[in-house]
Amino acid sequence: MLVAVGVALMTTVGQGCAWNRADAASTGSAGAAGAPAPGSLREVAMASRGAAQIVQSLTDEVGPRLAGSSASRAAVEWAIRTLQARGFANVHTEPVTVPHWQRGEERGAVVSPVAQPVQLTALGGSIGTPPGGLEAEVVEVDSLEALDKLGKAAVAGKIVFYNVPMPRARDGSGYGKAVQVRGAGAIRAAALGGVGVVIRSVGTDQNRLPHTGAMRRDENSPTVPAAALSIPDADLLHRLLTEHKSVRLALTLGCRWLPDAQSANVIGEIPGSGAPDEIVLLGAHLDSWDLGTGALDDGAGVGIVVNAAQLIGSLQLRPRRTVRVILFANEENGLSGARAYAQAHQIEAAKHIAALEADAGTARAYALRYLGAPEGRARLLEIAAGLKPLGIDFDDADAHGGADLGPLRALGVPMIDLAQDVTTYFDFHHTANDTFDKIDPEALAQVSAAVALAANGIANMNGDFGRVPPDKRESNRGGLLRMSF
Ligand SMILES: [Zn+2]
Repeated sequence: MLVAVGVALMTTVGQGCAWNRADAASTGSAGAAGAPAPGSLREVAMASRGAAQIVQSLTDEVGPRLAGSSASRAAVEWAIRTLQARGFANVHTEPVTVPHWQRGEERGAVVSPVAQPVQLTALGGSIGTPPGGLEAEVVEVDSLEALDKLGKAAVAGKIVFYNVPMPRARDGSGYGKAVQVRGAGAIRAAALGGVGVVIRSVGTDQNRLPHTGAMRRDENSPTVPAAALSIPDADLLHRLLTEHKSVRLALTLGCRWLPDAQSANVIGEIPGSGAPDEIVLLGAHLDSWDLGTGALDDGAGVGIVVNAAQLIGSLQLRPRRTVRVILFANEENGLSGARAYAQAHQIEAAKHIAALEADAGTARAYALRYLGAPEGRARLLEIAAGLKPLGIDFDDADAHGGADLGPLRALGVPMIDLAQDVTTYFDFHHTANDTFDKIDPEALAQVSAAVALAANGIANMNGDFGRVPPDKRESNRGGLLRMSF
């Protein structure tokens, strides 16, 4: 694979455009004659189906890989094998302690005024229901604030139903608000004496498949069993509550917590030719929820960044800086890998020139965003010009960086976002429907090409992006932004 791509790129030597020659000259290590044109990297990357092949391999050979599970250990082995086979250097693991939560039996039903089953799934991190399950009257709210307003008298002894729809949007902007009740809903309901929680799935589909996702837990705060209803079942419950004064729901969740487990971040590099200690970081998360096979979330991201770095490694003229790929452990159920990496590499943080994470599914990228020192912005603008032919524009909004990059952002590491179109992503996100057939190999190639061009440009540029200004290092302002896609 690696060799074939390298040969393909070498055949296009000498067709460099202006910025490529400038880059080659700036490295001082090789002349323009030895440099592949960015056009050629773009073309080879667009033609490559490597990213989709990687997703297929991960989802078919490993499948669902929730933190702590035996499949998550198989995923680490898969990642080591894959990076080695694709020609990465310094392939290694770094230890991460991860929580181990296990889903069990799960059932739900309306028991009165009518009796009929509903489709639901436990939220990641929920406690189980007592033996025999629980049954209670339902109280519906559309926000955490609305629940607090109801107060103890209206909530005690009841199952709280958070019914917060998520609007469909290209930029996923509906996620941040809808996901708040998933995160905080159980603790807030418990504080008012609630006995259980069901939420309207955080998703944009009308399939009868619930969307799981992490809920917050805090050893000092009581919590209650919490599940997500499929969206048609949330609609049903809402109609019943509109028509009838009292609706009772039965809930059985067999999920449970096991002792923490050992896992690992998996890292591989394309070593820099001139400044190997300076790092351009490309991240994705290796873990997935347990319901689907984690093709979109985040097999796609793994495919995008591994393939992009491999393409850079195939260039005849290696970039000046090191391109480091990191496949994070346990993004979904608590960002353990993200924290472990930032902690282990704190001293090296200043050597991280920029970081980019792919965690937004399979669809095409449409915008490039920047977050770094203001004086570094012009450097990314230059690189952005090379992404224009891919239909990607520079967008002045601050980059976010992705959930796994939050701890690095806090250390001041500049963030680069390639915003992907997530219009349909939340139809499948965290459901049993997140499977390989949803992958669009052509679109994935476009994103991977964009990552390759951006990372190669950053790895070769003169100067750097400085550091993220201190007032922009907090990545989850007020909890309103996405926790994680
Ligand atoms: Zn994800």
